[in-house]
Amino acid sequence: MEPIKTRCLIIGSGPAGFTAAIYSSRANLGPLLYEGHQPGGQLTTTTEVENFPGYPAGVTGPNMMEDMRAQAKRFGADIRTGVITEIDLDSRPFHAKASDGAEIIADTVIISTGASARYLGLPDEKKYQGLGVSACATCDGFFYRKRRVAVVGGGDTACEEALYLSNIASNVFLIVRKDHLRASKVMQQRVLSNPNITVLFNTNTAGLYGEEYLEGAHLVEHKGTPEERSYDLPIDGFFLAIGHRPNTDIFKGKITTDEAGYIVTALPSTATNIPGVFAAGDVADPHYRQAITAAGSGCRAALDVERFLMEGAV
Ligand code: NDP
Repeated sequence: MEPIKTRCLIIGSGPAGFTAAIYSSRANLGPLLYEGHQPGGQLTTTTEVENFPGYPAGVTGPNMMEDMRAQAKRFGADIRTGVITEIDLDSRPFHAKASDGAEIIADTVIISTGASARYLGLPDEKKYQGLGVSACATCDGFFYRKRRVAVVGGGDTACEEALYLSNIASNVFLIVRKDHLRASKVMQQRVLSNPNITVLFNTNTAGLYGEEYLEGAHLVEHKGTPEERSYDLPIDGFFLAIGHRPNTDIFKGKITTDEAGYIVTALPSTATNIPGVFAAGDVADPHYRQAITAAGSGCRAALDVERFLMEGAV
C-alpha cells in the first residue's frame, strides 16, 4: 500500500478533532483524521447536551458528534475509522502507522486524543452508564433535580462536582475513601459547611444496584478494620470524580507532558515542544474539559497549523 501523504494528520475525533478538521479542510489543507478507540470521544457516553451553544432544544452527545463529523466531511476531511498505532515525531515530515494498515506521511499533526475519566473498576459502573452513572456533573447533573446523588472522590474535582450538584439535587453524598479530603482548604470548607452535602469518610463503594436504572450503592465503611460496616445508600445518581487520564500512551517519551501526562502547549497557541505538532482538547487541558472549550482549541490548532505551513516551515 502506498503511504498516504497529508498536510495535516488529526488524531482523535471528539469536538477538538472534528473542529480542527472543519477548519483545516475549509483552509484546503485536506486533513486526514483517524477517529480513535472511541469515535466521537467522551461525548458519545453522555446523553443530553444542553450547554453547547447553538442547540436551544439540546442535543444528544452522539448526535452532536455525528453533526460535527458530517460538517467536517462536507468540506472534504478524510475521516477514517481506526487508531494510530505508531508515530515517529523525530523528524518532519512525520511518519505514522494506523490500525487499518495505512502508512501516513504528515507535514503537521494535531493530537486531539482526549482524556478518559477514571472509574473504580466495578462491573456495575458499565451496567448503569447513562442510567445513573456519570463522570461529569456539569454535563448530567441537571437530570438529578431534587433527587439523591453521590459523588466519589476527595479531590478538588469531587468537591467542585458535589458543590455544583448541591444546587440541583435534594441530597448530595460525598464518598471519600480516607478520613480526610485531599482538596484545597477553601474547597474543603465549602463542602463541609454546605448543609446539602453529607461527607461519608472512610467509605468505599462495593457495588451498585437497581432494576433498570440505578437505585443505590452498596457501601463499606472502615473496610478491613474491626469497625467494618456494610450498608446500602439509596441514590439516583452516582458521579465518579476520581481523576482523569489523558490518552497520551503512544506519545510517551516523544513529547513534553506534565506529571499527569497532559501535553504541554505554549499557550495561547496549541504548539507543543515539537515544531509542527499541535495539541487540542482534553489531552492538553486538565482544567476546563468542556465540549465547547475543546472545540475552541481545535479551531486554534487548525489556525496554528495553517500559519505554520504558510510560514514555509514544511
Ligand atoms: P485528584 O487526583 O486530586 O483527586 C482524586 C481523588 O479521588 C482523591 O481524593 C483520591 O483519593 C480519590 N480516588 C482515587 N482513586 C480512588 C478510588 N479507586 N476509590 C476512591 N477514591 C479514589 O484529582 P482531581 O480530578 O480532583 O484533581 C486533579 C487536579 O486538578 C488537582 O491538581 C486539582 O487540584 C486540580 N483541580 C483544581 C480545581 C480548582 O482549583 N477549582 C478543580 C478541579 C481540579 P485519595 O485522596 O485517597 O488518594
